[in-house]
Amino acid sequence: MKVTIDAAKCMGHGMCYSLAPNVFTDDDHGYGQVVADGEVSPLDVEAARNGAANCPEAAISVTE
Ligand code: SF4
Repeated sequence: MKVTIDAAKCMGHGMCYSLAPNVFTDDDHGYGQVVADGEVSPLDVEAARNGAANCPEAAISVTE
């Protein structure tokens, strides 16, 4: 599973990196970024889905 963030949609609400800090992080301005290349460890899949589902801007895409 892999996650990506559409930077044009992200408004920096921070839900993703609050809910799944192993998968998402923030840049210097609080906008969401994927950790490394966005590949999600099996241990973090549930948190990643939760973070993506709670993005208020629907900026996160999940690819199986
Ligand atoms: S939850 Fe969505 S809008 Fe908020 S920082 Fe993450 S990607 Fe950006």
